[in-house]
Amino acid sequence: MQVTRRGLLKFAGASAAGILFSPLPWKLLDDIAIWTQTGPWIPKVPRGPLTTAFSTCALCPGGCAVEARCAGGIPYAMRAAVRHTAGRGALCPVGMTGHHLAYHPLRLSGASVIRRTSDQVETDSLSTQEAFDRILGALNTRPLATGVAVIDQRPGRTLSGQFRAFLAQQSPGYYIVPDDDRLRMHEAFSNACGKDGLSLGFDIERTATLLTIGTPVFDGWTRPARTAALLDRRHDARNPLKLIHADPRRTRTSVLADQWLPIAPGSETALVLGLTNIVMRDHPSLAARYVADLHTSDRRGMLDVLSLFTPGIVAKRTGIPVDTLEKVGSALAHRKPSMVIAGGDAAGPIDRDTHQAVAALNILLGSYGTPGGLLHRDELPMPATKMAAISTIGDVPDGSISLLIIDGEEMTCSTCWESIESKLSPDGHLVVSTSPFLTQLSAHADIVLPSPAPYETAAEVVGDPTDTVVSLSISTPLLPRKQGSVEPIELLNHLSGESVAMQELLKQRIALVHARGRGMIAGYQDGSGHRLSEFASADEIWSAFIEGAVWTSPPLHETPAHSYTLLGHSPNIVDRWAARAEGEPNGNGADGQVILLPTASSDAASCGRISPLMTKIYQESEVRPTRAHLVLHPDTGRRCGVDDGDQAVVQTESGSRHVTIRFSASLMPGVAQLSIGPDPNVSGKKSEFAGSDVFRNTLSRSPMAGVTAIVRRA
Ligand code: SF4
Repeated sequence: MQVTRRGLLKFAGASAAGILFSPLPWKLLDDIAIWTQTGPWIPKVPRGPLTTAFSTCALCPGGCAVEARCAGGIPYAMRAAVRHTAGRGALCPVGMTGHHLAYHPLRLSGASVIRRTSDQVETDSLSTQEAFDRILGALNTRPLATGVAVIDQRPGRTLSGQFRAFLAQQSPGYYIVPDDDRLRMHEAFSNACGKDGLSLGFDIERTATLLTIGTPVFDGWTRPARTAALLDRRHDARNPLKLIHADPRRTRTSVLADQWLPIAPGSETALVLGLTNIVMRDHPSLAARYVADLHTSDRRGMLDVLSLFTPGIVAKRTGIPVDTLEKVGSALAHRKPSMVIAGGDAAGPIDRDTHQAVAALNILLGSYGTPGGLLHRDELPMPATKMAAISTIGDVPDGSISLLIIDGEEMTCSTCWESIESKLSPDGHLVVSTSPFLTQLSAHADIVLPSPAPYETAAEVVGDPTDTVVSLSISTPLLPRKQGSVEPIELLNHLSGESVAMQELLKQRIALVHARGRGMIAGYQDGSGHRLSEFASADEIWSAFIEGAVWTSPPLHETPAHSYTLLGHSPNIVDRWAARAEGEPNGNGADGQVILLPTASSDAASCGRISPLMTKIYQESEVRPTRAHLVLHPDTGRRCGVDDGDQAVVQTESGSRHVTIRFSASLMPGVAQLSIGPDPNVSGKKSEFAGSDVFRNTLSRSPMAGVTAIVRRA
């Protein structure tokens, strides 16, 4: 056969056209894209029989019931255990990818020393024994008058009790919990009732009118099954919910609420006191009962301060029209049961004075201690032992800590490094973190003793703190434990010279629950409910937990107090409340000045580690506002000299950030909002922890008050 030049060209042309129409090049492109994205974080699923296992998600206190599909005993997919009857039949996206975290690129493979420069965080490995010895050395040779502290980011666990017992032996020993809205809400009610140690939950399932002050009820504030039920109730003719959300920020909850009150930044106390005034004015019977219940020494001061918050003044202060304020006050008084919830945002707690005002309004509305309001939770028993008192980082004297243990990963941004740093002894200190990953806090530690990743060990889950139902379950291990990880109890054993096993301690607590006989055990597999009397021993309950189950106990029927001292326990609160009637200037965009408001979801995605798969989704979909986008009203943007899509720099007193401008006409003029996290561009990289940031040093302010910032084109 003769091969001509013309024939060759025809063959090449036809081949090129044929390849284009065949799937080959596209498949190759697809494969290359997949291969280049296959990092070490992709779970390696072995070949083997397909099975189903049940566990409890321990990534946040929600404690959702998990059904894991496994190949060769290793989970490759997770979904909610839907047959489960105790209201835990849904998972959030973070929980669905919880089994990826063991493969996270920022996971530490063993004991590590952290080296930190201004723009880098590096880790050097050391043996677990060396790490133990250095920590024990720091404990035994600490300077006189300095103390030992533990920051417990998941209070209420059996391990928390062990920390407190250890600290009770130290002089001084500080047991520190996050200074969050839940703690402040309890302080406010304790002040009001003159009773310490209250444990309250929000009965949102039966509330008819719910006023939330910055609370992200539709965005990770409670576990997803409860959120879904709340969303459904807005359209339920038999049990409808009216949700009124007050927040200067445009958030998911603002958008999904029945009514959004876009209040001026920092005006939340004025709003609450103004509504209290309206309810008292229009409902003399409620007012008479409330005043009668108030301690006599508080009555005059309370009535005087409320008289400052007339609807006209509050309208001016908050930017909400008078008739809207009147309607909200009327809904709270008439559409019963009603309740007010403040804060709960991962961006930080709102101030104590607002919580005290919210407690007063709830008491006035009769929401404290009644169904649909705030109910007393049952107690989760803890083995009796001498324990250190509970404190927050603000209670600890400056320069007084020489050994600090930070347990676990941060769940909120209420405990930031800047608030910790000033508490460390200038004469020498050692900071130890037990986080399995590098996080904002563990990246500041001297030594990290990484605890096992989620699903690598049996972890106690003490349940959703917002719920009126108290619960206890165990996150069943589904993955082999990584060599080099260290259980925090092993560190405590080394420091105290004891030898206790976590599993035995957990069983002791379960035995206390069993002995009390209150509550039910619900299995995840078939949703069956069992009374505690059906279990012969704590060991049987442990076995049920390991197969997938939760213990729940309903709220207590405690009669609330009938005498309140709202003012007596908060010195000068009348003066501070009165000052809130005066306005604070908003940013007006002149010279690029705005009030910068931090936003955050309340779930594990804001501060904790998330699956790299979700980071990828964040990068490509912008499904969540990221640290890289500054949202402004178009008028504010133009006054700052920036346009939609521009690259810009936002600067506060504590740092600066490069951002892309996004315009939103639904934001109020003069403010800008910026997410505290996650940042998909750096999440999973060590550069995440370097440099300054706009919200450092400012998270002690209420997130709804914001900080002054300058915006300029980059
Ligand atoms: S809400 Fe919390 S417990 Fe539930 S699935 Fe999400 S991370 Fe897990």
